Amino acid sequence: MSASFSRRDFFTYSGSVLAGITLGEWGRRHLARADALASGPSRLPAEWAPSVCRDCAAACGIRVRMVDGAPVKVEGNPLCPIGRGRLCASGQAGIEAYYDPDRLIGPAKRTGARGENRWTAITWDEATAILASRLSGTRATERRPLAIGMEERGPLADGWTKFWTACDARVAWTPAQTSARLRAGFLALTGIDREPLFDLEHATYVLSFGAPIAETWLSPVWAQRSFGRFRRQAGRSRGRLVQVDARRSATARKADEWLALTPEQQVVLAYGLAAIIARESRGNRQFLDRFAGNHAEFERDVVRTYLPDEVSALTGIPVVTILRLARELSATTQPLVAVAADASRELTDAVFALNALVGAYDRPGGIYAAATAPPDGIEDAAGPIEAIAAGRIRPAVLALRDGSALRRSSLVERPDAAFASADFIVSFSPYLDETSTLADLLLPAHTPIESWHAVRAAAVPPGEAIACAAPVVKPRLDTRDPAETLAHVARALGGPAAAACPWTTAEDLVIGELERVGQMRRGGAYTSAYETEWLLQLEKGGWWTSGSQTPQAFRQAVLGAGGWVDPFFQDGEIRSTLDARHGLTFSSPGAAPAIAAAALHASSSAGAQFPYRLLIFETSASRAADPNLPVLYELLGQPEGIPWQPWVEIAGETARSLGIDTGAKVKVVSPGGAMSAIVMVVHGMQPDVVALAHVPALPEGGRWAREIRSDSRQLMAAGSAAATRVRLERV
Ligand code: SF4
Repeated sequence: MSASFSRRDFFTYSGSVLAGITLGEWGRRHLARADALASGPSRLPAEWAPSVCRDCAAACGIRVRMVDGAPVKVEGNPLCPIGRGRLCASGQAGIEAYYDPDRLIGPAKRTGARGENRWTAITWDEATAILASRLSGTRATERRPLAIGMEERGPLADGWTKFWTACDARVAWTPAQTSARLRAGFLALTGIDREPLFDLEHATYVLSFGAPIAETWLSPVWAQRSFGRFRRQAGRSRGRLVQVDARRSATARKADEWLALTPEQQVVLAYGLAAIIARESRGNRQFLDRFAGNHAEFERDVVRTYLPDEVSALTGIPVVTILRLARELSATTQPLVAVAADASRELTDAVFALNALVGAYDRPGGIYAAATAPPDGIEDAAGPIEAIAAGRIRPAVLALRDGSALRRSSLVERPDAAFASADFIVSFSPYLDETSTLADLLLPAHTPIESWHAVRAAAVPPGEAIACAAPVVKPRLDTRDPAETLAHVARALGGPAAAACPWTTAEDLVIGELERVGQMRRGGAYTSAYETEWLLQLEKGGWWTSGSQTPQAFRQAVLGAGGWVDPFFQDGEIRSTLDARHGLTFSSPGAAPAIAAAALHASSSAGAQFPYRLLIFETSASRAADPNLPVLYELLGQPEGIPWQPWVEIAGETARSLGIDTGAKVKVVSPGGAMSAIVMVVHGMQPDVVALAHVPALPEGGRWAREIRSDSRQLMAAGSAAATRVRLERV
């Protein structure tokens, strides 16, 4: 038991909660008290402590307001270079996780059948022995353990990987929606194996292919902040945004122009614009002449294949509009072509090619290369999950770091049913949710404000950042950081696991990271925008000063500020790499019209039974998909005013043909399943497309998630959303 949570407390809580293992009404009462303290006038002195939001890979810095020893509110950390004091809705809601009534109060083992939620509280020593015994048993089997978590970078994530690798486990991650996902396309064109950094703030014109710039792009708070500056930067005219998006997203609403195209049509438009730029010799000659590479072949192919009339026929966009867009893009001083992190490889290649034609590399308002290479060997959890579902693998031990794998919109069927085939499931989730309900052993982690942090933030300008913080409050419950839990298990196992995990606590790993960073002699603790700029100028001049005399002082400065940042990255690196490797390597644009034509043909020939193409999208509120933050469910569907339920967006023509309007309830039916949704009529959408919000239905995801009873995954029996067609039925 932790110092702040006694045995007596345990029995007090356990009398009224699920089998004595969750926090229950105590959490709700104290959240109400925290809300009152945060919003009402109070004579109690408030203190602020830095921490890190862990709801997505952006790792924004937060400040937690403490009143009378209790955390009552979360705000952005003004020193954090990612958000500069801003947070998204998930970040603001983070305080709810600490008081969540479904938090587990300590380790437990299953006593009933899986999913029955019958548990017995156990000690950490017992829990350690159970997991160690299970893992030592797997060494004699062919069935490798499997460990799954949300993609994260930094020493704590490395610790997780080291432990499971030493146990001969397969380690897989639910990929974060960061620019790391665009790495392959960037590498193919430039030869640089880094994340591309999009300098949105300094662009003068942005052509966005589905990039949710005003919502959740790459690093959401950074993107929203950069978008604001792109629009209203002092001494410069307002940036123009053209959004190419299948639905009228929040970004499309804020754009100067919205073109409603499916993802396949977006590929055709991107290459169609490239063809016009090439045909009319509007490319950036200075850039292209120096880094030509295979540009001549690309230009020849794209001009021959993407005739404006054909592009117009495939996309429905008038030729005159296509010509205008190509001319606008090439005529502006600092154009940038943006793309969604989860775009197809075809679209990513087309977008990077367009950026090359307008010379948007290594210049303000363009694309730079991140300073450091991302780690190799990150396996997407979708592969092993599908392998389990198909019965191709049956892990002896399945470790679930969090619920991210179970909430993904891309999985075609409920993975919880598939996971049932694993011999033994261990969950590290802090909550009694859909992950822990499946498990045999619960090893609950602390919530973020009780945790140590050293997280490498998603790569965005101004450069490299590691969000670091000590716990804001002592753990209230009998929880443990997974790094500490695994260190105990490693010692119990001995051998390679013990050798791979020499740390004792999460703090050891964080301090080790700060020592490593300090020895690099670059960057410094988070500081004001002005001083960060000063640091950049010093580093450009070959100077480095941390402002700290000793490693201890450096550590304190970084932990006190909330992180470490190195704003320096080598602009010019892309150009020098291209010089060294004989220029650009454009991918062949050859097959794209065939893809779009096939999609359009399928769309027109699908028959009356399922006449609409299904598109599934995630919203700002559902992206983090954290079922323990009820305020996010309140925000779902805003500004449409449709909280707590999924909705489907349809064109005006479609609504008229069905005799329905905004607010009507419909059943969305596919060959594989059906679900209910509220209609939202969107004028300008393509009439053969319906766009469905993905809000994960998690019957065991906690008391808030239970309100969502069905989700888009039920429709995707055909293999993926892209291949799924639906009809709408009035309810
Ligand atoms: S962008 Fe991500 S890390 Fe930043 S506040 Fe929002 S959820 Fe948290």
